[in-house]
Amino acid sequence: MKGELAIRADIVEVGRRLYAKGLIGGNEGNVSVRDGRVLYVTPPAVCKGFLVPECIVKTDLEGRPLDGQRASTEVLMHTAVYRRRSDVGGIVHAHPPTATGFAVAGIPLDQPLTAEAVVTLGAVPVIPYGTPSTPELAENVAGAICEAQTLLLANHGALAVGVDLYQAWERMEILERVAQVSLVARLLGREGRHLPAADVARLTGLRERAGYPPPVCEPGAPAPAVTSEPAAAAGGPVTLSREELVRLVAEAVERFRT
Ligand SMILES: [Zn+2]
Repeated sequence: MKGELAIRADIVEVGRRLYAKGLIGGNEGNVSVRDGRVLYVTPPAVCKGFLVPECIVKTDLEGRPLDGQRASTEVLMHTAVYRRRSDVGGIVHAHPPTATGFAVAGIPLDQPLTAEAVVTLGAVPVIPYGTPSTPELAENVAGAICEAQTLLLANHGALAVGVDLYQAWERMEILERVAQVSLVARLLGREGRHLPAADVARLTGLRERAGYPPPVCEPGAPAPAVTSEPAAAAGGPVTLSREELVRLVAEAVERFRT
């Protein structure tokens, strides 16, 4: 178990890495760590590339400040994830340019393009647009986070979770790389050349041993919502029923295997 100073230092380090890699710009993005009944959250309106340990805000599990400081305006998105996912210890929200391009285009990153992506990410869906910092966005995130470790947020950015903060950061960085690979493969006209099914099955079997266990979801969670590519292409995001979501996720998983 890490102490408070180490947790604050980790958040500062991850903010620095996100900014250095261009996964956030200006004051974009936010990061959090759960430590028992306490959350450590980045503050609003500062560049996360230049954080100092003292500016990290402590809140309760509802995002209410415990130390008089104001937490990120998008803290609701984080508390919504922690409420549903008991296995999540850290969350990274960023606006990586290529992955956000896929989110704007309504195109999920759900094909088995590289071994790294199959093991660390799995299928990455696009969830419907919600106004940043509102319960609407938090509900959309909560609706999909049991079926995925990383989400594309339509017309906004991406969110990644992990057993700890560094795994969430790793997923965010890998997401942007996979988006770049997918874009280049599309430009070359060969994006349909996926990993063979047998290799995908072998890699999927390695996930748990490699430290990437499947999501652990709390019962009684709210109805999920995702955006499908055809619906987005037809003129905007739609909210799907639980049955439709289960069917879509099953289809995505099947595509991943075949
Ligand atoms: Zn954002």
